[in-house]
Amino acid sequence: MKTLRSHVGGAWHQASDRFVPLFDPSSEEEIAQVSSDGIDFESAVAYSRSHGGASLRELGYSQRGELLLAMSKALHQCRDDLLELSILNSGVTRKDAKFDVDGATGTLAYYGYLGKEIGDSKFLPDGDGEELGRSSRFWGQHCWVARNGVAIHINAFNFPAWGFAEKAAAAILAGMPVISKPATSTALVTERMIEILNDEEVLPSGILSLVCGSVEGLLESLDGQDVVAFTGSSGTGFMIRSQENLLRRSVPVNIEADSLNCAVIGPDVSPGSETWGLLVREIAREITQKSGQKCTAVRRIFVPEERIDDLQEALIEVLSTTVTGSPRDPSVTMGALSTASQLAAAVEGTARLVQKAQIVHGEGTRIDGVGAKPGKGWFFPPTLLRVTDTSDCDVVHDLEVFAPVSTLLPYDGSAPEAACSLARGGGTLVSSIYSDDTGWVGDLLARGGSFSGRFYLGSEKMASQATGSGVALPQSQHGGPGRAGGGSELGAARALTLYMQRIALQGSRRMIEDLTNPRES
Ligand code: NAP
Repeated sequence: MKTLRSHVGGAWHQASDRFVPLFDPSSEEEIAQVSSDGIDFESAVAYSRSHGGASLRELGYSQRGELLLAMSKALHQCRDDLLELSILNSGVTRKDAKFDVDGATGTLAYYGYLGKEIGDSKFLPDGDGEELGRSSRFWGQHCWVARNGVAIHINAFNFPAWGFAEKAAAAILAGMPVISKPATSTALVTERMIEILNDEEVLPSGILSLVCGSVEGLLESLDGQDVVAFTGSSGTGFMIRSQENLLRRSVPVNIEADSLNCAVIGPDVSPGSETWGLLVREIAREITQKSGQKCTAVRRIFVPEERIDDLQEALIEVLSTTVTGSPRDPSVTMGALSTASQLAAAVEGTARLVQKAQIVHGEGTRIDGVGAKPGKGWFFPPTLLRVTDTSDCDVVHDLEVFAPVSTLLPYDGSAPEAACSLARGGGTLVSSIYSDDTGWVGDLLARGGSFSGRFYLGSEKMASQATGSGVALPQSQHGGPGRAGGGSELGAARALTLYMQRIALQGSRRMIEDLTNPRES
């Protein structure tokens, strides 16, 4: 059986004790073991800061971008290997594995090209400069400069490839070395990615380290030049955010937590229209893609009451075509949940939703998967629920069932009530609004825009190029207020600022402009 290793202090570390098993979710067979036992976190942090940080600060954005492009290329060359590991350890279909793995290489490449676009500077200007004295000789300019510490990246189990890459891309481009910690249960893919990058000698030593297993004690080694970026449940996020050492030393912490994302159907959208076709396709995909184990999945669907029967029927028609089972069976379109505890939480969570909503499609329980041994595998079918009394359904707005589960809720079709319903989620990563009426969409955004980090505006005009709301594109911010953690990642160059310190420069205009924009000096 494979034993996953960590890579710290410029070398591989293999533990000899306190192992946790990893499983194939489709067969429940043990496939690997993980432990971080014996890692000296203080030394690991010191090595990253001194070796990785020093190497990166020698480079401008353009050269760091070259490193990211080399990472993307090396990983893409091993794509099939990574897809197989993803199928094995996450239980997802090949198509869903691609969503994660190609998302990783694509995001690395995006930030690689962005670095080349920014150029050779080591500072990123923040806004325009301005005159501070009687003339422009005394000049002021804000800019960003890389922090001198290490970025600790703690990721969720559902995106072992993309989660690692999207965080690493931003930190490395900003000039910070990374210690990446994948969720233990699906660490196989991330470990292989780091192995590939090491074998290919893509990065100077210390820029990218890996801890497979527990990071107990790591956060205590950090100081005010370091950064923590976390993705996972709000409970763990709260624990990390309130860690004493991080608070005492003002260590920046970015939290991407869970989210009761929603789709809002505008009153102008009627069955048969192009926008209706788009929303049915996309919502059904958001429910089933990656077996619903996506932080951006649609959990609540708000639909004008006179259209709720139509939408229910249309969604059931699409969801009924889903074949749940082993990703190795060619007929299967949706794989397993990733762990036994995720399955238990899905069953228990759906039972709680059923107290205030009614199941209109699916089982709400484990099923045998197509192509899998009877009684084995963590399979849970697409499940659609419907609320009748929206005044008494708090659980639907509060409980994230991290599985292919979504709930239909009627509303009166007005923008104020749509905004109110959206807000009941307490802050989401993404909300999709399907409407061709710009005035109505504007009204909804003005009233409820601050409750979501991203709005996906589905309409007839963009339908031919639409990606669906679940894709976290590197160009757009990923992160949302309140319950979603209050964090912000991606969004092109905006992602870099977490890893940099903003400084105000005051001096001669010539010197400041030469420093911040060397290409044009
Ligand atoms: P989780 O149980 O909170 O774990 C997340 C990560 O935190 C894992 O790497 C875990 O490591 C680590 N961790 C746990 N306790 C820790 C501690 N005391 N100190 C440091 N690290 C600790 O979440 P999950 O089950 O992996 O992920 C599912 C959740 O993530 C869902 O709620 C989903 O909505 C959310 N999610 C959010 C986003 C987003 O972008 N907002 C994206 C994906 C997922 P171990 O695995 O070793 O315990």
